[in-house]
Amino acid sequence: MSFFRRCFLYLDTIKKSMIIGRILEGEKKIKFNEKINCTNCKKLVPGGMQTGESYHKTKLFEKDLENFKKSYLCGMCRDKKRRK
Ligand SMILES: [Zn+2]
Repeated sequence: MSFFRRCFLYLDTIKKSMIIGRILEGEKKIKFNEKINCTNCKKLVPGGMQTGESYHKTKLFEKDLENFKKSYLCGMCRDKKRRK
């Protein structure tokens, strides 16, 4: 993959909000901001996240978010890992 193509994909990942948990069909989405660091390069990943309204209030959501943050890799590091 060329350098420019990779940059484009990377920017796209940042702009889009990530979805965590579940969003039921027709359910209201909750948007929130969470500071997430890549677990590999420690880079802070900006951008919003989304989840479903009913899921947002559950204990499971907090747990999932915690686990997500513990295992998160930024786009670049994910790319590197895939190529190995
Ligand atoms: Zn990284």
